[in-house]
Amino acid sequence: MHHPRAILFDLDRTLVDLQSFTDYARALQDLTDLVGAGVHAEVPDADWDAPTLSTMAILVALAGDSRWSEASDLVAAHERAAISRSVAMPGLARIDEELRGLPRAVVTLLPETVARATLHHHGIDMDVIVGRDPLIPAKPSGAGLVVAAQSLGVPVDQTVMIGDSSWDHAAAMDAGAAFIGVPVTEHAFGPGVAVAPSLLSALRRARDGS
Ligand SMILES: [Mg+2]
Repeated sequence: MHHPRAILFDLDRTLVDLQSFTDYARALQDLTDLVGAGVHAEVPDADWDAPTLSTMAILVALAGDSRWSEASDLVAAHERAAISRSVAMPGLARIDEELRGLPRAVVTLLPETVARATLHHHGIDMDVIVGRDPLIPAKPSGAGLVVAAQSLGVPVDQTVMIGDSSWDHAAAMDAGAAFIGVPVTEHAFGPGVAVAPSLLSALRRARDGS
């Protein structure tokens, strides 16, 4: 891995744990009430609980559907309700220091407004946040990483994505970005995926191109 020109971060369980405090079971119920039980997309497995995975898969499946915005808003209400209980991942307060001036962005499955409020709650401001957006295919597509890199003025193949999930890894591979995983569970990634034991160790490895 060469020295990158920017770092792209996943948000949930990478910078801040919002997911563990979000009632995705109720979000999934709200979604199912809206769209029925027949909406599915082929998505990678992830080390998330079943309601979280199903919720995200349904939102992926609704891309381009007229119900997408209403569906996203239903889920966002539950995500927003968890912000005050969310927990910073270890090392979050030091990421700017460790970036040493490297540009950074967030690419997240959360809506940009929820992501921005979550980070603000923990004292972090990010200029570039690519969130859940009807016009940008969600992870596991790499489209959000490409948009984030363009916003930073950096070729996406000179960025490193840091994230906790298989969807982050899939998105990085799709976009042509390098990837370092910060797994929360031992089932996060298959063999052959570069991982680091913490956010800051991942950031140092990414920054130093090691
Ligand atoms: Mg995550």
